[in-house]
Amino acid sequence: MIGKMLVKEAMNAGAAHPQLSSGRCIDARQAKEKCGLCAGVCPKGAIIAPQNGRIDWDLCVGCELCTSVCPAEAFSLTADTRAAAQRLLGDGRSSHVVGCRMTQAGADMKLWCLGSLRWELAARLALEGRLELVHGDCEACERRGSLPCFDKTIERLRHFLGEERYARMVSVGRREAGEGREVTRRDLFGGLFRRGREQPPKEQQAQQEKLSSEVEGVRLSLVRRMDRLPEGEGTFGFVSPSFTDKCWACGICERICPNRAIEMEKRGEEWTVACYPSLCTGCGTCGVICPEKAIDGVIPIRIEPGVRRVVVHVNAGVCADCGAAIKPGSADTLCIRCKAKARSKRRINP
Ligand SMILES: [Zn+2]
Repeated sequence: MIGKMLVKEAMNAGAAHPQLSSGRCIDARQAKEKCGLCAGVCPKGAIIAPQNGRIDWDLCVGCELCTSVCPAEAFSLTADTRAAAQRLLGDGRSSHVVGCRMTQAGADMKLWCLGSLRWELAARLALEGRLELVHGDCEACERRGSLPCFDKTIERLRHFLGEERYARMVSVGRREAGEGREVTRRDLFGGLFRRGREQPPKEQQAQQEKLSSEVEGVRLSLVRRMDRLPEGEGTFGFVSPSFTDKCWACGICERICPNRAIEMEKRGEEWTVACYPSLCTGCGTCGVICPEKAIDGVIPIRIEPGVRRVVVHVNAGVCADCGAAIKPGSADTLCIRCKAKARSKRRINP
């Protein structure tokens, strides 16, 4: 049994299929609402119970649709795609072509379907200057079932870049054999004139490292690229949980978030919620789990490069003993912990 498990484990470490971090799966973190998006898009029915790590990797064809649809980033890219992406991002060219495997046109990187493309990777490539997405005849393609995944990638990419930048930086179209990429002068010499790499302030960087340690490298690389943009570049689209005035900083969402994108903070006598949009993947687990229904879903927001936090003031009471947040308007002046402590003290010294 253990031998079999070890063999499976060793096979899972291979490059051919995505890696699953089952602890990040939405269904592993809450049981109120079932997600199941990955199982819904898997063309081979390989995904059985991702919350328990149950995937039949023998069936997996490495299409990576699960990596593009999972709202919690529980699946990471295959080692092959990751290596290909790193090559493209390191080549110094300002324009890149990503195609599906069904197009006969030339491309810098080919994916199983364009629906397999993670929006963060598309955005990262677009920020180099220009991203061309080329595909074959989708209507006639046996993989057309994954087109909704591509629509979602495009929607998220448009939101991130904004309409003006999207129109300038991204093109999507059908291409056939012989219609490969054209190499422009800018492609050839672009690398020579690239801006110097400015680093964000040290403290900010350290905080980002700490907070992003669990988030996939693609997203981290995207945020770092944004930091190097010249000032006045305008805003970029992210998503963030929308806190209503019912929130009193109980901290459950902070503990459930797989990306540590939410932080409860006490400033003086006031409690605040800090959200980190660049870490939020929009999985929505916080809203599902909140016992006060104080999170009104995940909403699109726009932030400037370098901005990491969005701070919301909340209406919370403060524990008279330890200062923890308590529900406002209740008769209690102590938090649950301090109340329990006081009770056990009374039992010992009545
Ligand atoms: Zn207390």
